[in-house]
Amino acid sequence: MKFALAGNPNCGKTTLFNALTGSTAHVGNWPGVTVDRRTGLYKKLPERVEIVDLPGIYSLSPYSPEETVSRDFLLSGEPDVIVNIVDATNLERNLYLTTQLLETDIPVVVALNMADAVEREGGRLHPEKLAEALGVPVVAISALKNKNLDAVMKAAWEAASRPRAGTCVLEDTPYRPLYERALRLYREAGKDNPVFRTVKALEGDELEQKASPELFERVAGLKKEGMPANDFGDDFEGIMADQRYTYISARLSGAVTKKEGGEKLSGSDRADRVLTHRIWGIPIFLVIMFAVFHCTFS
Ligand code: GDP
Ligand code: MG
Repeated sequence: MKFALAGNPNCGKTTLFNALTGSTAHVGNWPGVTVDRRTGLYKKLPERVEIVDLPGIYSLSPYSPEETVSRDFLLSGEPDVIVNIVDATNLERNLYLTTQLLETDIPVVVALNMADAVEREGGRLHPEKLAEALGVPVVAISALKNKNLDAVMKAAWEAASRPRAGTCVLEDTPYRPLYERALRLYREAGKDNPVFRTVKALEGDELEQKASPELFERVAGLKKEGMPANDFGDDFEGIMADQRYTYISARLSGAVTKKEGGEKLSGSDRADRVLTHRIWGIPIFLVIMFAVFHCTFS
């Protein structure tokens, strides 16, 4: 059995990977590129599980070697489940990748990481709300404090044996008719991960064009006929990005709530409040500059 760890850079993937695999970790390279490929074993389930730490990525579009190797690995059919690590202190940005992972037919479990940091700031996590909105299991964890790691592995283990079909943020939008027509073509052709591939064809994605040139042309034809009026013209990548963020802010952002009674100011916000003050800002600036020159030249 194989689990893939996927998430944005700095979401805590390596911390989680190290906590799960300990001394079994092994670092190699992805074929053909100099991107680290970390694998290791997790031994606390009835079956041995190989954990593959994918590179940190923001999308599955082929803009960087990291994104390409991650996408190829996910679509290869190798992973039995994706464990998507989401930084709960940066929820909306991290869920952007989640909406893309959910387009594949691979089972997904969301690990809502940095629960300790959110709670320390007086915020609260609502994994059950996120699970309901996304339709996949969500477990709040802290990779750093080793909290709930076995629970998220167990959820992944169970999800691996439940077949899943990809879902797409376009389902409740004016783009639905176009999306469904394109999806029908991919389904009829018997393609794997049809939702993911349909979205990529609509976006005009190069790798998908290479994979299925004929279908790609037919989807381009559907776009010419049936594109709803919008601000992006025929830039479907722009449309998708906009629709993903609209979906996230409308349906998902309530999964983490900040402390009641306004946000606590961070240290740098407090410093900004004084140093960039409307009246005192310039005098403070001049005093600091004078002090710097004085120290330098005297
Ligand atoms: P990666 O880029 O996804 O591999 O992220 P890392 O594992 O390198 O973690 C990035 C930073 O987040 C490091 O400073 C970690 O110590 C920190 N971090 C990871 N997990 C947690 C967590 O659960 N709670 C807190 N507070 N910090 C974490
Ligand atoms: Mg890392």
